[in-house]
Amino acid sequence: MLCSRIRTALSARLDGEALPPGLTARRLDDHLAGCQDCRRWDARARALDAALGSACAPEGDVPPPAGGPGSAEALLARLRPGRRAG
Ligand SMILES: [Zn+2]
Repeated sequence: MLCSRIRTALSARLDGEALPPGLTARRLDDHLAGCQDCRRWDARARALDAALGSACAPEGDVPPPAGGPGSAEALLARLRPGRRAG
């Protein structure tokens, strides 16, 4: 297994993306267990990811209001012409 392929998959895993075909999480972990270079690479990628993540989500960031399925329906009903209630 090529380290470059493993790293591509590791990067995808970090981003929450699907692993490349033919690669599984177990395979990645197996490779990491036996490849110090990739372990280091993974650690660095994680650190970078964490740093970027905290930069993108500043403290005090307010989560979007929880809109249930009802709110989208109400919006659609408002946008749709005709059929007035009453
Ligand atoms: Zn490797």
